[in-house]
Amino acid sequence: MSILLTGGNGYIGSHVAVALGLAGRKIVILDNGSNSSINTISKIETINRAHVPYVFGDIRDMKLITKTLREHDVTAVIHLAGLKSVAESIEKPLDYYTNNVEGTISLLKAMNSQGIRNLVFSSSATVYGTPRQLPLDETHPTSATNPYGRTKIQSEEILADLARAQPEWRIACLRYFNPVGAHQSGTIGESPKGIPNNLMPIITQVALGQKSQLDIFGTDYPTPDGTGIRDYIHVMDLAEGHAAALQFLESHAGWHAFNLGTGKGHTVLELLESFEKASGISIPRKISPRRPGDVAKCYANVDKANRTLGWAANRSLHEMCSSTWNFCLNFPRTTTCTSPH
Ligand code: NAD
Ligand code: UDP
Repeated sequence: MSILLTGGNGYIGSHVAVALGLAGRKIVILDNGSNSSINTISKIETINRAHVPYVFGDIRDMKLITKTLREHDVTAVIHLAGLKSVAESIEKPLDYYTNNVEGTISLLKAMNSQGIRNLVFSSSATVYGTPRQLPLDETHPTSATNPYGRTKIQSEEILADLARAQPEWRIACLRYFNPVGAHQSGTIGESPKGIPNNLMPIITQVALGQKSQLDIFGTDYPTPDGTGIRDYIHVMDLAEGHAAALQFLESHAGWHAFNLGTGKGHTVLELLESFEKASGISIPRKISPRRPGDVAKCYANVDKANRTLGWAANRSLHEMCSSTWNFCLNFPRTTTCTSPH
């Protein structure tokens, strides 16, 4: 009996693979390598001290998915595979709808054909759009400001329709807030192939001297220091949330949404200060205009996940920063703080 991780080679997937290994689960990873390295598998194997079967392929390849489900005796799927850049989704919406929505449908059809109806889906806090009230709880209305966000809302809605039509489905949509950090081994971490847009990978680029300074997008928000507030969560806490969701589904049918965050917001300057302390490096910065589309504040109400999943994020902002830096120091020669591809 195995758990299939689509996109299991990626940043979050590799940490989920480790968390599931720790929880004593057998896994199989399927990934098309579009934003990850094959080398990650051996790193997961080293941490887990176990062989991890790897299938190179695409979630849109229904035949391959069906074969994988059958051959590896899969009982549940954690569906992380997807494209995730907001900016790219605005430029290439069809790529995003094909990969993220069509891909999800293909996966669901393959699962249905094999009678496998346990699914954990990687969703995002982006489904809440501009917050109407904070903290955001799961009853907050969904809306999207870009194609990436719409692919997540559409996928969630397809999953909800499926659970209504076929009550045997057990589905948990995990709405991630802002994952940062790396596994304590320093061997797996965030390894974007292109130019990063998110704050933490940009900070590390500056720390490594690969970028001259950090642009701080806006200092005139209604927050204590004027910079944007986000709910940063350690990727290992997030990963452990998946193990908790799988366990929850063993006794709960239907469609469920859970926020995975810490419930605490931090400003850009707070994250920066914490990173400087953890790394001992001072980060040159420049005040720049607001980034279009950014919200001032976004943080989670995590009561539902705490109560229902028996899960809580425990790692501190300092641990998020020090583990990120530890990973980067292990791979200092690459251009975007990536492990070698
Ligand atoms: P990532 O790019 O590191 O990992 C995604 C993995 O999926 C990559 O290894 C990529 O090669 C693979 N992949 C993409 N399309 C595929 C396809 N069609 N078939 C097979 N494999 C495919 O991204 P991540 O940060 O690990 O994100 C994982 C999931 O979590 C994504 O669905 C993303 O939208 C979601 N998410 C991420 C964040 C974040 O900040 N990182 C926040 C909210 C939600
Ligand atoms: N941010 C910034 N400079 C950057 C990248 C991000 O000041 O180069 C800010 C951004 O405006 C937001 C916060 O950092 O307030 C988190 O941005 P990120 O893109 O990581 O997450 P998201 O906005 O998608 O939640």
